[in-house]
Amino acid sequence: MQGGASGLARLFAGLAFLRGAGGRGTVPRRRKAPDPASPVPAPYLLQLLLNADVFAPEPLGVQHLLIAGGRLAWMGTVRPEVPKEWDVAIHDLKGARVIPGLIDGHAHVTGGGGEAGPQTRVPAVPLSRFTRGGITTVVGLLGTDDVTRSTADLVATTRGLVAEGMTAFCYTGGYHLPATTLTGSVRGDIVHIDCILGVGELAISDHRSSQPTLDELLRVAADAHVAGLMTGKAGICHLHLGDGARGLDLVRQALDQSELPARVFQPTHVNRRKALFEEAGELALRGCHIDLTAFPVEPGEDAYTAEDALERYWAAEWPQARVTVSSDGGGCLPHFDGDGRVSHMGVGQPAALAQCLATLLERGHPLGQALPPFTSNVADLLRLDKKGRLRVGADADLVVLSDQGLPEDVMLQGVWHVREQQPVVCGTFETFEGRQA
Ligand code: ZN
Repeated sequence: MQGGASGLARLFAGLAFLRGAGGRGTVPRRRKAPDPASPVPAPYLLQLLLNADVFAPEPLGVQHLLIAGGRLAWMGTVRPEVPKEWDVAIHDLKGARVIPGLIDGHAHVTGGGGEAGPQTRVPAVPLSRFTRGGITTVVGLLGTDDVTRSTADLVATTRGLVAEGMTAFCYTGGYHLPATTLTGSVRGDIVHIDCILGVGELAISDHRSSQPTLDELLRVAADAHVAGLMTGKAGICHLHLGDGARGLDLVRQALDQSELPARVFQPTHVNRRKALFEEAGELALRGCHIDLTAFPVEPGEDAYTAEDALERYWAAEWPQARVTVSSDGGGCLPHFDGDGRVSHMGVGQPAALAQCLATLLERGHPLGQALPPFTSNVADLLRLDKKGRLRVGADADLVVLSDQGLPEDVMLQGVWHVREQQPVVCGTFETFEGRQA
């Protein structure tokens, strides 16, 4: 211990200098202007957004919103009188649609892949790849490669995104059992590490899985559930579904033979085969939340796009609150031949979420109906009570939509990260197109 109180004061003074005058006093944020002629606005603590056509997700009509300290502090139809002495940034949104920030419940933030050799390990996904897609909360995870990639790296990458202004969480484990962990157990990771919400993506019905037995699945799901009870976190087992004919059989057995609540099991990629999607609908009726992946689907493929799957889900009148959509951003989207070798591959894009939402709007679905699988449904499953809805007290995570229904401006916890579809806040090692960092 050296220096005592005066040493600490000097340290804080130094930190304040690094943040720059008038910083928000939380984390240093890196700001770079895409064009020196239009500098990034100062990070106001108070902002008044006027004439926002609010979908909370339910339509609330035109409202004025007061943002204070990163939260939605007030919302109403009569423009508030703000004292002159207050330093308030005012933005007139002129009737543009404003929605809660999207929550991406499945992204390979460290980069996934590796299925066709080490040269196919996908690089980490930089901050603005998410924010440009209207994503304000992300859950990172490991997939096939839980050997060269580790929980430690995933936790550090998650924390890095948080330091850059995103709300970020992750899962422990990966495709395989025994699960890759940081503390030595799934339960320990969820209990001891704040950003870890559950376990996943544990693979079933896939040639890349560990071929888990029912008992093995139950044990890892129970660990997640008990850790969820101990912490108030989601405590879920997020399951990667492969193309295998066994489909969701293991999950049905788990529901039949254990005391675990259905919500603990969240199968993802369930739109990758049409028959699998029907199975998933039955599980939603039994209480599971099912997750669709917004991946590209080629004509004639035995799969549904996320928007087609959502339309079918709504038409079947399955439980509206139990369907979510995620991007698989940063993940490898491999196609395998009969011998299990990769024939070709793509990379999941976070922007696919916003694109899926825009397609639904284009097809005439009301915004209030289309939003929950991207916002409130995800927040409810993940037990994130300040996310997924525009209501007083919630985090000021919001997206202003363009006329085409795509993210135009994106605010994360009261800070504009994207203006006019261009990032004004970037990740630490990102460069703006055409410019050096
Ligand atoms: Zn997966």
